[in-house]
Amino acid sequence: MRNIKELSRQQLAEWLKEQGQPAYREKQLFRWICKGASSFDEMTDISKDLRSSLSEHFSCESISVELVQISKDGTRKYLLKLIDGNFVEAVFMKYEYGNTLCISTQVGCNMGCVFCASGIGGKIRNLYAWEILDEYLVCRKEAGEDINHIVLMGMGEPFDNYDNVSEFLKDIHDPDGIGLSYRNITLSTSGIIRKIYTFADDFPQVNLAISLHAATQEEREKLMPVAKGNRLDDLIKACRAVSEKTRRRITFEYALIAGQNDRDEDVKKLSSLLSGMLCHINLIPLNPVAENGMQGSTKDAAMQFASKLEKSGIPATVRRSLGRDIDAACGQLRKKHT
Ligand code: SAH
Ligand code: SF4
Repeated sequence: MRNIKELSRQQLAEWLKEQGQPAYREKQLFRWICKGASSFDEMTDISKDLRSSLSEHFSCESISVELVQISKDGTRKYLLKLIDGNFVEAVFMKYEYGNTLCISTQVGCNMGCVFCASGIGGKIRNLYAWEILDEYLVCRKEAGEDINHIVLMGMGEPFDNYDNVSEFLKDIHDPDGIGLSYRNITLSTSGIIRKIYTFADDFPQVNLAISLHAATQEEREKLMPVAKGNRLDDLIKACRAVSEKTRRRITFEYALIAGQNDRDEDVKKLSSLLSGMLCHINLIPLNPVAENGMQGSTKDAAMQFASKLEKSGIPATVRRSLGRDIDAACGQLRKKHT
C-alpha cells in the first residue's frame, strides 16, 4: 500500500478532489503529517468517512529510531530505520544559538570522497522528501526538545537528490508545516556547480556550505572525485556569483588532514583563492575513518591554521567537535550497524 506521505501536496490535493473533498482538507492532512501523525485515527478534525477511505487507500507509517547514542555534551546521534529496512543517520546538537539537527538526504552516497564513511558502498537510494522531513519529526519527538536549526550535512549529497531536497525545504518552511525560517537551514554540497546556481535562484535565503578541503585543483581531485568534473576555479566563480547575488556568507568546510592540507602553503593558497569573497571557513580536524588511514590534524594545529587564515583576512573558526565520545562522524554508525 502506498504511503500517503509519498504524495506531493499537489498530488494529495488532486486525490482529495477526486474523492469530492473540499480543498482545505489538503492543508489539514499536511498539518497532521507535519505533527508526526503515524495513523489516520489521530487526525481528529477529519471526518470518520474520509479517515476510513484514506486508510483503505494509503498507509501512514513513519520512519523509526533504531538506536540513540547520547554524549556527555548533550549530542544525540540517531540511527534511523526506514520502512524498507535501510538505515540513515541524524545528529542532534546543542549550540548557544539553539538546537540543531543534522540530517541525511540519501542512503549512502555516490560521490566517493576518500575521507568519508558515508561514501563507502556507494549510494543505495535517494530519500523521499517525506523521509527527510520524518528525520526531523522523529528526532524532535525522541529528544523531547524543539529544534530550530537544520543542517543538511548528514549522509548523502543533497544536490544528487535535488527534487526531493527542494520539496523537503518547501514543506519544512511552510507555515502550515513546521514554519522553519530558511535562514535557519544550511545545505552542504561537495560542489556540483550547475546545481549551486539553480539552488541560489530557488532558495536564496538558505545558507550554502561547500566542502572545499583543498586549495588546489590537483589536491582536491585526490580527495574528492567530484572535483574532476567540477573544477575548483569554476566552483569558486560560482560561489562568488552566488554570494554577490544573495548577499549571504558562504561557508567553506575544510577537514584538516595532518601534513596534507594543513601546511603554511595551504593557508597562502586558500587566502588568495577566497580573497574578497563574503565567506567563512569552518575547520574541523579530520575524523579518522578506519578504512583510509588518514590522520586528522591536532587541535593545536587546527587553531594555528585558523589564526593564520584570520591574519590573512579570511574569517575562520575551528568547529566545536560535538559528540567525540560517540561515533559522531557521519556514516560511521550505519557502517558499524549494517
Ligand atoms: N555530501 C555533502 C554533505 C554531507 S557531508 C558534502 O559533502 O558537503 C558533511 C561534511 O562532513 C562535509 O563537509 C564532508 O566533507 C565532511 N566530512 C565527511 N567525512 C569527514 C571526516 N571523516 N572528517 C571530517 N569531515 C568529514
Ligand atoms: Fe558524499 Fe559528502 Fe561524504 Fe563526499 S563527503 S562521500 S559528498 S557525504
